Amino acid sequence: MSNLFPKFSRTRDGVNVVMEQKLLQQTSNLILNSETCTGCGICVEACPEEAISLGLVGAVRRGAVSPVDDAPVSVDAETCSYCGVCVIMCPFQALNLEIDGEEKLPILENEGFPEYDMVTTIDDEKCVRCTICDEICPRDAIDRDVPAYEGAEDGGVGRQKAITAKTEFIVDDEKCNYCGICGAICPAIDVKHKPFTAETGTVDGEVVWDEDLCDACTVCVEACPEEAIKVERTVESKKLPGTVAITEECCTCTWCSKNCPEEAITVEKIFEGEITFHAEKCPSGCSTCVEVCPCNAIYLPTPKPAKELKRELEPVIAVNKDFCMFCGACVNACPGEDIIVLKRTGIRVKGKETDLFNKIKAKLLTPRTSQVREDPGEVGKVQLKALETA
Ligand code: SF4
Repeated sequence: MSNLFPKFSRTRDGVNVVMEQKLLQQTSNLILNSETCTGCGICVEACPEEAISLGLVGAVRRGAVSPVDDAPVSVDAETCSYCGVCVIMCPFQALNLEIDGEEKLPILENEGFPEYDMVTTIDDEKCVRCTICDEICPRDAIDRDVPAYEGAEDGGVGRQKAITAKTEFIVDDEKCNYCGICGAICPAIDVKHKPFTAETGTVDGEVVWDEDLCDACTVCVEACPEEAIKVERTVESKKLPGTVAITEECCTCTWCSKNCPEEAITVEKIFEGEITFHAEKCPSGCSTCVEVCPCNAIYLPTPKPAKELKRELEPVIAVNKDFCMFCGACVNACPGEDIIVLKRTGIRVKGKETDLFNKIKAKLLTPRTSQVREDPGEVGKVQLKALETA
């Protein structure tokens, strides 16, 4: 069989849609994770071959029946040149390029394209390993590696190890009569008696204390009938041991950095811009933008009681701009017209800004809004329109 001419296929493998090109001895696969893909459409505008089209985004995607095409975007396996630009530009890590089974991005390796300059740092000195960033991150992009403690998990680390502290255990030999009460009630204390002999005719010994087992509860101090024990604990650091890191799943929405109680996190959004919601045009009860927003930035405002409205219209939808990373998924999903207006003003990248990148950048920086597509063959799809023609 000749391999001189490329052969193409597009298949489904679980959640992945796999585009394949076989040419000479080389097999290239572009793999789209249909669940990770948010429908932001950045790849559609980035693709130099116009091989990607926006599919069904948001609520209209429910009930899509094609076994291959129920992803928010669709890649034409034949038009695709397997350049990997879409992989680099996808802010959600939904695309991968494999060449002969290995993840590769030759265009990046050859410095023919820049990549996002992700600023996602955690200051280890300031971070106390609390749970806030881990719980709040809408992309599951926080890797919190902190040991489980006893009580939380079988075989967990002793709770006294949760903080760094210095404990001092002092026994007054003058007062102690080696009665053994402290040793009987606490596993950290062992009262060792010397052999009882008629020669001395007294009880003597030593109180041995194990710092690792002591949690400074001071029950020994309270129980000692001779008031011979003193326990002093100095806390040196209240931070938990372990590490917290931001993974590559981060889309720079900044939920974590804005909520870190220690101000330990720095995140810079990869896009700069502005987003405006014209909530007065929004049909109530839709909320498809809330559903698709990968940053949890869009919300349904709490209804105001009628008596407080004073002839105002109550907004049905709103965005918290702090958390919007200007990906555009909501614009693509919105079934209404001119409700959401997105204006990107900058892209944070590192590496050489090549001509190809600058062409893509110009497209991504074109302000856009949504409009209903009137094509009866593509019911439910929306198309973007440049703002100038809106
Ligand atoms: S690999 Fe290149 S040509 Fe293929 S879909 Fe992605 S950007 Fe377009």
